[in-house]
Amino acid sequence: MNLRTPGPTPIPDEIMEAMLQPMVDHRGPEFAGMLPEITDNLKKLFMTQNDVLVLSASGSGGIEAAVVNCLSPGETVLAISIGSFGERLGKIAEIYGANVIWLRKEWGSTASPEEVGTILKENKKITTVLVTHNETSTGVTNPLKQISEEVKKYNKLLIVDAVSSLGSLPCPVDEWNLDVVVTGSQKGWMVPPGLAMVSMSERAWEANSKATMPRAYFDLQAARNYSERGQTPWTPALSLFNALNLSLKLMVEEGLENIHLRHQEVGNKVRQSVKSMGFSLFPIDESYCSNTVTAINVPEGIDGQELRKQTRSRGVVFAGGQGKLSSSIFRIGHLGYIPDAEIDEALAVLREVATIK
Ligand SMILES: *Cc1c(COP(=O)(O)O)cnc(C)c1O
Repeated sequence: MNLRTPGPTPIPDEIMEAMLQPMVDHRGPEFAGMLPEITDNLKKLFMTQNDVLVLSASGSGGIEAAVVNCLSPGETVLAISIGSFGERLGKIAEIYGANVIWLRKEWGSTASPEEVGTILKENKKITTVLVTHNETSTGVTNPLKQISEEVKKYNKLLIVDAVSSLGSLPCPVDEWNLDVVVTGSQKGWMVPPGLAMVSMSERAWEANSKATMPRAYFDLQAARNYSERGQTPWTPALSLFNALNLSLKLMVEEGLENIHLRHQEVGNKVRQSVKSMGFSLFPIDESYCSNTVTAINVPEGIDGQELRKQTRSRGVVFAGGQGKLSSSIFRIGHLGYIPDAEIDEALAVLREVATIK
């Protein structure tokens, strides 16, 4: 199958093979040798000097970790939401007792940095801002650099869901002053689902020292202490760590700039191609379309489920819409391992199915 969903994403054969290695003692020298390598390469790719921790969990586990390690019940936070992942981030904070002020924007648009600044100016109680970098449900990339500038103008903590952007789109953690940044293995990292990577700034550790939300499995202080010995607090998903170790080496070898360029090119190609077939893009303005996932309107009179069934029967899997967009859009993932031949095949099959209609 040509899997063109925005996670899980296809895995190169050599990374699949890395997962066949025998198990080792996770308290022994092999793992202790590997973890620092992984951490060093993650720091290069996050472009940060901050701590980066690897958790055995899907991306949402990493997001829950970010929330419960930095916040206290009753604390006032601003949740910026432009789609279903923005909703999820704010919802997790609410579940753990934060007092969430929502800045909700129409799905298909971005958050406005000026508006974020105005809210922070007017509401002095807000300590922390929660934002999604790349909203996978709508195919929109938020202006994170500018949002961060506003957040830092008011000296607030910034927690970022960069699950579907980091490692694929520019997201220089230190340069953009991002305190807590979360990503997940099954997006741009060419690794199966099951690992979340989280970076924590000094400022975030300071918040952590006062934060009182309950946490056990996702205690990042414990993760940091253990990582200094080349271990994790709990049994790590060893096969996935083996895969991540290799994928990070390949990514560092390729270079971040080349990776970003590759995603920019494939994003342009997919957008041009679907427009030439007569489809329209879901994002309101093409200037902020994501280069990791393209969200496409299902044309009037066409059944989106049926369209995807037809491409699937020809070996190409696209994603449907999420939440309220479930039948009105479909999405093409183009992040991580994106060989030209697979993208071309996916687009050719879409063209074929679209003209059958
Ligand atoms: C995929 C994704 C997540 C995490 O989802 P999991 O299913 O828990 O891995 C979170 N945020 C965004 C923006 C995503 O694309």
